[in-house]
Amino acid sequence: MQTNLADFIKHTADGRTADSILRKCVHCGFCTATCPTYQLLGDELDGPRGRIYLIKEALEGRAVTGKTRRHLDRCLTCRSCETTCPSGVHYSRLLDIGRHVVEARAPRALPERLLRGALRSLLPHPGRFAPLLRFGQLLRPLMPAALRRRVPKRQSPGHWPAPRHDRRMLCLAGCVQSSIAPNINAAAARVLDRLGISLVSTTASGCCGAVSLHLAARDEALDFMRRNIDAWWPQLEQGTEAVITGASACTATIKEYAELLADDPLYAEKAARVSALAKDLSEVVAGENLAALGEDTVLSRRVAFHSPCTLQHGQSIRGTVESILEARGHRLTRVADAHLCCGSAGTYSILQRKLSRRLRDNKLTMLQADKPELIASANIGCLVELQSAAQVPVVHWIELLDE
Ligand code: SF4
Ligand code: SF4
Repeated sequence: MQTNLADFIKHTADGRTADSILRKCVHCGFCTATCPTYQLLGDELDGPRGRIYLIKEALEGRAVTGKTRRHLDRCLTCRSCETTCPSGVHYSRLLDIGRHVVEARAPRALPERLLRGALRSLLPHPGRFAPLLRFGQLLRPLMPAALRRRVPKRQSPGHWPAPRHDRRMLCLAGCVQSSIAPNINAAAARVLDRLGISLVSTTASGCCGAVSLHLAARDEALDFMRRNIDAWWPQLEQGTEAVITGASACTATIKEYAELLADDPLYAEKAARVSALAKDLSEVVAGENLAALGEDTVLSRRVAFHSPCTLQHGQSIRGTVESILEARGHRLTRVADAHLCCGSAGTYSILQRKLSRRLRDNKLTMLQADKPELIASANIGCLVELQSAAQVPVVHWIELLDE
C-alpha cells in the first residue's frame, strides 16, 4: 500500500513503524473473513482492512471524527486478522498507534472520558479493585441472578510452596486476576513445584500495562511496564529462568515490552531481556516431564478448551494446552470456530456490552455443543466472561493439573 504520512508523525518513531506496517498491507482482504466484528456487523469499516484504511487516513492528516474512533473502538484487538494475514501485517501495533492519534484528534465526550478514566484508575490497581470486589462479594447473596453471575465468588489461593528448587521462575502478580482468582497463580506455583521449578512472585510488580494500552493511554502503560522491569531486575540478574503469568493476555503483553520500549534509552535493553525471558505457562509446562506430576488421581474429564486470542493469535501458541490436558488423561470436545474471540477482550465487555454479549453467547454455544463437563481457558478475562453465562463450570487449565 502506498503511503504519504503527514508531517506531524512522518519523522517520529511511531510514524516510521506505522509506515512500514501500512506498506506491507496489499489490501487483499483475506483478514476480513476471520474478523469477529466484521462477521457480526458486516461493515468493511468494522473489519481489519477498513480499520487499516481509517488509520492510514488519520496518519496522512485527513479529518478524524467520532465515527473513525467508533470503528476503532469496536475492534477487540483479538489479532485474529494477524493470524490470517499472508503478508505479516502487524495490525495490533498499527492500531495502538492509530488509537493514540485518533484519541488526540477526536476527543471524547466527558461521560466517556470519565468512564475510561475510572477503568484506568481502578482495574490495574489491586489495592483499589480488591476492596470493591470484596464489597460486591458480600452483597452477592442479595443480587439478582444475572448480576450475581458477574461477581465471582471469593476464592482462596491455597498453599504457595516455599522456594526450594535451584530452578526459579518469576511470576507477575497481575492486577484483577490476583483479586478475582488468586488460586490460578498459586496452582501454577504448586504444579511447577512438582515439576522441580520454584515460582517466585514479587508484590512490587503489578499490571502488565495492557489495560492502559488498550484504553489508548500509552504513557501510563509504559510506566507500568517500567515498574515491572524494575521489580524483576534484581531476580533476573540472579539467574531467574523465565518470567511467566497465569494470564495469556499479560504474557502476550510482556513479550512485547521489547518492541514497546524500544525507543526508551534507559529501558530498551532491559525490556528486550524481559521479553526474551517471557514464557507462556503452557510453554513451560509442555517443556517438562509431565510424568513428574505423578499418576493422575482424578477422573478423566470431558473438557472444552477455549483458547484465548492472546494465546492463539497474540502468542501464536496453538494446541499446546490441549496436548497437555490430553497427556493428563482429559478428553477434549470438538469446538467449532475456535479462532473467534469470546467477547471479553480487556475492557471491551464493559465498553462494548452489546457486541461483547453476542460474541460470548456465540462462543458458549460452540463450546457447549459437544456436551463438555467443564470449560477450561487460559486467561482471567475469558474465564470471567464465560462464567457469567456458562451452563458448566469454567476453570483455568492449570487448575486441572493441580487437582
Ligand atoms: S490480509 Fe493482510 S495484507 Fe490482506 S488486507 Fe488484511 S492486513 Fe492487508
Ligand atoms: S483485531 Fe480482531 S476485531 Fe480487530 S480487526 Fe483484527 S480480527 Fe477484527
